[in-house]
Amino acid sequence: MRIARFTTPEGEPQFGLVETVGAGTATERTIINAVKGDPLYAPLQPTGERFDLDDVRLLAPVIPRSKVIGVGRNYAAHIKELGNETPDRPLLFFKPNTSVIGPGDPIVVPDWSENLHVEGELAVVIGRVCKEVPLERVSEVIFGYTVANDVTARDVQREEVQWGRAKGFDGSCPLGPWIETELDPRDVGLTTTLNGETIQDGRTSLMLYPVADLIVEISRFFTLLPGDVILTGTPAGVSRIDHGDAVNITVEGIGTLANPVLKR
Ligand code: ZN
Repeated sequence: MRIARFTTPEGEPQFGLVETVGAGTATERTIINAVKGDPLYAPLQPTGERFDLDDVRLLAPVIPRSKVIGVGRNYAAHIKELGNETPDRPLLFFKPNTSVIGPGDPIVVPDWSENLHVEGELAVVIGRVCKEVPLERVSEVIFGYTVANDVTARDVQREEVQWGRAKGFDGSCPLGPWIETELDPRDVGLTTTLNGETIQDGRTSLMLYPVADLIVEISRFFTLLPGDVILTGTPAGVSRIDHGDAVNITVEGIGTLANPVLKR
C-alpha cells in the first residue's frame, strides 16, 4: 500500500492511497484514492474522492510530531570516501521536524555554506509508541518506508562537533514521494542522480546496521512515537549540490523523491 499526503489547488492537505488503474492497458494511470484523516492514527476509510496523480501536489508524506533520527556512517564505502572511522555502534543525530520538506519543494542552499551535499537514504516511518523494542517485534512498530535526502552542509559539519547546524537547518530533510507499507528493507537498491547522472548506487544490504538492528538500538534510548522518522544512512557517492541542480533519489520498491536546488 502506498500512502501519500497531497493537496489539490483548492483544498487542504489530505491523505490518499496511490493506485494504478488500467494496468497494462492504453489507459493505465496512477490515481490517488483520498482517505479520511491521517492513516497513522485512523483506520483507512476512503472518502470516495479520486484524483489523477498529475493533478495534485504531493507533500511530505509525514510531518514528524516529535523527531527525525539520523544514523551516520552506516555504509562502509561512504565512511571510506569521507575518511571517517567506522563507529562501534550506530552514530545517532537529530533533525528537527522543521527541516522536513516534500517532493518537488526546493532545497534552498543556505548562505552560510559553500559545500551542501546530497545524501540519499531509506527512511523508516514508525507506526506506534514503543520503547526497548526486541528484535523479533521490530516489524510491529514500523508503519512503512519512504525516501529521504539527509541534506548536509559538509563544510559546517567538519567545523563543529555537534551536527545541529550542518544537518538540521530548514529544508534539510526532503521526504517522499509517499509511504510504502509493504517493503522488505533488507536488500533494495538505492540510487541518486544529480542532473540525470548517477552519483549514488547502493543497496540496503550494505548497511553496517540493518533497519531492524537500528530500531532495537535507537529504542533503547528514545521512546518512538507514531510518525517519527529514522534515516538509515547513506551509501557512497555523496556529492555537492548547488543552485539549478535537480536531485532524484530512488529506492527500489518505493519510488523517486525529486527536488530542485535553489539559491536565493
Ligand atoms: Zn545521512
